[in-house]
Amino acid sequence: PYDVLIVGGGPAGAAAAVYAARKGIRVGVAAERFGGQVNDTLAIENYISVLETEGPKFAAALEAQVRHYEVDIMNLQRADKLVPAAQPGGLTEVHMANGGVLKARSVILSTGARWRNVNVPGEQEYKNKGVAYCPHCDGPLFKGKKVAVIGGGNSGVEAAIDLAGIVEHVTLLEFGDQLKADAVLVSKLKSLPNVQIITQAQTTEFSGAGGKLAGMDYLDRTTGEKKHVDVEGVFVQIGLVPNTEWLKGTLELSKFGEIVVDAKGHTSLPGVFAAGDCTTVPYKQIVIAAGEGAKAALSAFDHLIRTPAH
Ligand code: FAD
Repeated sequence: PYDVLIVGGGPAGAAAAVYAARKGIRVGVAAERFGGQVNDTLAIENYISVLETEGPKFAAALEAQVRHYEVDIMNLQRADKLVPAAQPGGLTEVHMANGGVLKARSVILSTGARWRNVNVPGEQEYKNKGVAYCPHCDGPLFKGKKVAVIGGGNSGVEAAIDLAGIVEHVTLLEFGDQLKADAVLVSKLKSLPNVQIITQAQTTEFSGAGGKLAGMDYLDRTTGEKKHVDVEGVFVQIGLVPNTEWLKGTLELSKFGEIVVDAKGHTSLPGVFAAGDCTTVPYKQIVIAAGEGAKAALSAFDHLIRTPAH
């Protein structure tokens, strides 16, 4: 069995692997796709000490650092069931979709999350070419330009407020008849001079020219009219879904499906830790996921030295 088995190979899982391996214990990482979300990212400009890099390059660097240590990397492996240890100090099992079963004295869950897509024509085509999901990451790329934000919940309204300070103009589109964000955010948004709010707007298409986004269409649900907005960027803010469906019923999840962790990365199960975008820790960013992964590995090591094996 492994001393530490990490499920998920994004920034959180990679940091956990490096920290755990440096303790000289037996470490494995099983990941559906090593690197995680950064594989789908173009420019990364906010990872501290790295002025600018690209997602695939960053993912390759994560893997190279993990491979530098004695870590079993099991790539292209999806976990579909967690079986808690029968007693404290016992082995936790992770069942894989391919039928294999991995056993470990401690497990770190770092399966990340995925942005909910609007699923309209042009979304895949213009992803990273105008269609964006993370205002902290990509907001500065649209400095002085016109952008739209889709979604009038807390994340959409926060994104619109944030972007309004950087870009020329923000159009916020909400599907329903009113914004669902907290009142204090809505009134802040309404006080900004360069923001337009459109409700009852159903996004229907993203369009562009020369490989770059140039605008989007929506259906005005009150009149049935098709309308167009000229924008160079669209931020889709309709939800971030944690990859935790396979854990339902085995440990405590929040109402959003995030794994509930304490300040040291403990989950509700002894010997099982979690880190990164799949957890309740706020602000889903690489630098945060990496820090949380390091923390979970140190907590797992602490657990191993305090808990006699059974
Ligand atoms: P992830 O990166 O999501 O990794 C999860 C890992 O778990 C993957 O290896 C995945 O394959 C694996 N996995 C999932 N389910 C299973 C399963 N059942 N079994 C086995 N393995 C599984 N952040 C920034 O800080 N700066 C940026 O510029 C930036 N730009 C972004 C641009 C885009 C387009 C996107 C989508 C995100 C961006 N982010 C950025 C956010 C950042 O990528 C995430 O916060 C970060 O990757 C989270 O790391 P993580 O390790 O928690 O999860």
